[in-house]
Amino acid sequence: MSASEIQRRRVLIAEDVKIAALTIVKALECEGFELAVAHDGEDCLARVGSFQPSLIVLDLMMPKVHGIDVLRQLRAKAETAHIGVIVCSSRRFKTRIKQAQDLGAFDVILKPFDPKELVAKARAFFDSSGPVTNDRPKSPDPSEQVSAPEIYRPTLDTSTGCLRLWGTRGSIPISGPSFARHGGNTTCLQVSCGEDVIIFDAGSGIRELGLTLMGGQARKIHLFMTHTHWDHIQGFPFFVPAYVPGFDITIYGAKGFSKDLKSIFEGQLDQAYFPVQMKDMRANLRFEYLPHEPIEINEAKVSWEFVEHPGVTVGYKIETPTTSISFMPDNEFLKGYLGSPHSLSQKHDSVNACRPIIDFLAGVDILIHEAQYTAEEYGQKVGWGHTSVPNACFLAKISGAKRWIVVHHDPLHVDDFLQTKLNLTRQVLSELECGAEVTHGFDGFILQL
Ligand SMILES: [Zn+2]
Ligand SMILES: [Zn+2]
Repeated sequence: MSASEIQRRRVLIAEDVKIAALTIVKALECEGFELAVAHDGEDCLARVGSFQPSLIVLDLMMPKVHGIDVLRQLRAKAETAHIGVIVCSSRRFKTRIKQAQDLGAFDVILKPFDPKELVAKARAFFDSSGPVTNDRPKSPDPSEQVSAPEIYRPTLDTSTGCLRLWGTRGSIPISGPSFARHGGNTTCLQVSCGEDVIIFDAGSGIRELGLTLMGGQARKIHLFMTHTHWDHIQGFPFFVPAYVPGFDITIYGAKGFSKDLKSIFEGQLDQAYFPVQMKDMRANLRFEYLPHEPIEINEAKVSWEFVEHPGVTVGYKIETPTTSISFMPDNEFLKGYLGSPHSLSQKHDSVNACRPIIDFLAGVDILIHEAQYTAEEYGQKVGWGHTSVPNACFLAKISGAKRWIVVHHDPLHVDDFLQTKLNLTRQVLSELECGAEVTHGFDGFILQL
């Protein structure tokens, strides 16, 4: 590589959030780029003159001078108009992103992003025909970026967020080849919709989720608890962000336990059970009771309803701009009913007893709900807090859910058994003339919203 080519690999990172800037630096320095960092728009413009970058990774929401104004000023001067720019922005700022594209931004990366994605875009810039020029700004038109036009290459639209199941087992974590397909972590769901992190339950699945958050930029975490039985809280002591200053974690739960929410979390970190205590957790931890009105986070709205389970337990509904999701991993729906779902109607006493839940779920797009026991098992386990396949099928029908993801698998149920149980579930749904598409959740299950 010639000296001039090396000089061309100078990248200026303009990002006001220091931890985000550090993450970008770490990713790009492994690629051998020469780097400088600016922490606001004014600083960025000053460093352009002294550092003379070929490429700027430009955060749009910066203090002093907005990213769009930085871009405008770069384009207005002949000596800086050629500099390539990769814009970082939340997908919410669609108008700003369009403005950046019109101003000849080489590419756009949506926050939060995987640093590897940024490395690929920076490489693509330096591998391309060269820095943008004033005469012919690089077009963001995707059709111009297709190198092999004869190959149809659809790309996944991740702009509307996703849900990810990090743990789908009930009661206790398990491992072994017989459980490999579904996984053995206990309950944990993440719904990605905007910058803040939204998590439901802190079963053992939350450990791996916490590790991925350490490499990202998000620092505000909302953790909603359905209840505080072991399988829903046991991962929290292993949730690494809780120990890291700078993370802000709010834990929400229903009022009504004999102990308050904080004491319950503190209790499992008692010296008798665990080597480090809650006082060693350096994140900003807040414990809040669920308010009656829905909680708005990013573009999502979270509401809740009590469900049928020993102790105080709730289920949640998350409404995003594109869909609605309900999370009820523990709900003994139609408690004590052992008969056929064909014999049930809206007026049946067992159905009426569940009316608040049925109303809460009406018309939900994605129902994440248990069906832990077979009909035979349920006959032996009435009152244990979990429902049967036929009763859960009736809920899928009566709620009008479009899609049902079954979770909270019994630790005794091996993969082959669960596959047979899923086929039986599909059969019962078909007999009930229920149109819901049903699948089994598994650890690592991701659904674009
Ligand atoms: Zn449970
Ligand atoms: Zn429970």
